[in-house]
Amino acid sequence: MSQTSQLEKGYFGQFGGSFVPPELQNVLNILNENFNKYKDDEEFIEEFHYYLKEYVGRETPLYYAERLTNKLGGAKIYLKREDINHTGSHKINNVLGQILLAKRMGAKRVIAETGAGQHGVATATVCAMFGMECTIYMGAEDTERQALNVFRMELLGANVVAVSEGQARLKDAVDAAFADLVENYENTFYLLGSAVGPHPFPTMVKHFQSVISQESRQQILEKEGKLPYAVIACVGGGSNAIGSFAEYLPDEDVRLIGVEPSEAATLTTGTAGQLHGFKCIVLQDEQGTPLPTYSIAAGLDYPGCGPEHSHLKMTGRADYVSVTNEEVLEAFQLLSKLEGIIPALESAHAVAHVLKLAPTLDQDKSVIVNISGRGDKDVAHVFEMLKGN
Ligand SMILES: *Cc1c(COP(=O)(O)O)cnc(C)c1O
Repeated sequence: MSQTSQLEKGYFGQFGGSFVPPELQNVLNILNENFNKYKDDEEFIEEFHYYLKEYVGRETPLYYAERLTNKLGGAKIYLKREDINHTGSHKINNVLGQILLAKRMGAKRVIAETGAGQHGVATATVCAMFGMECTIYMGAEDTERQALNVFRMELLGANVVAVSEGQARLKDAVDAAFADLVENYENTFYLLGSAVGPHPFPTMVKHFQSVISQESRQQILEKEGKLPYAVIACVGGGSNAIGSFAEYLPDEDVRLIGVEPSEAATLTTGTAGQLHGFKCIVLQDEQGTPLPTYSIAAGLDYPGCGPEHSHLKMTGRADYVSVTNEEVLEAFQLLSKLEGIIPALESAHAVAHVLKLAPTLDQDKSVIVNISGRGDKDVAHVFEMLKGN
């Protein structure tokens, strides 16, 4: 395949693609056509940027973390403040882009899956804002552990469906959402939360999240007059990371670093496989069964990762590293104390890595750390963990 036709089919090297039953493939083809039709449409772009500014609060600052920089004594550290976005993380960029597409496609209802509830809350938020009917599928076990997020979604007017099939976890919620889509595709839009899944989802999610690096690249050039030495982001499915990396991909001198939990270090220790209808690097056993993962950051608790990250890892364009829970908890506290910014536990993974990297670099270099979300949601959990120690 030529490189263009590879991208059209959603391949990043050997990864990506779409491995789903024919009925679902049919629906994904329609989605792909519409995405390609609207992504470069002037009115669509204008509306997307209107809501990013007026509703989400963009652009987000690229903040020079002076006290952290001085403490570490190396490269200048800049924080891309996705935590300031309405609803508290980068997820809103993607759900906003997709709901505008859903509207264009004439959808009357939106469905989504959620694990810990963060993507469900973001989806319910934009559905409320656009007056769209919203159904969120969630593993029954997750609805019990995340009762407060279930309540948030219901406050926002969503209908939360507890899925008790299988293990009653995220994977089963994904299956239920796809089954709903196949049955109701004429009036229903499936809003997927990360840069994963069958084509065109990884490409589409990257497109909407790229606003992060479109802004940060311009901001760092204004502030430093040159590109950063590195861009660092945490990786769950990979949407905040690919959005933070996207505009720097052609800048070969800018290092791109993804950070994973050592207990779900897919890209660091996984192998090529297939998951949820696409090819990627997966944590799996010899039979190809995904391994159980556990992370203190619910958003990073996933045995697979985006196909483009899998490819960037194989080609060496990006590096992937892991950090331990202890390092994450220390970073969480340090950023809070030194900068007055309580990061999400997910984002604290990226901070944990910069604590190691920055001191090894000259002071004339700069590093951008993507703060994917704010830590309010994690404070009670961290309190329990620290008290338990
Ligand atoms: C969901 C989430 C993540 C992980 O998802 P990605 O798709 O890998 O970005 C990271 N940080 C925060 C704050 C999240 O809510």
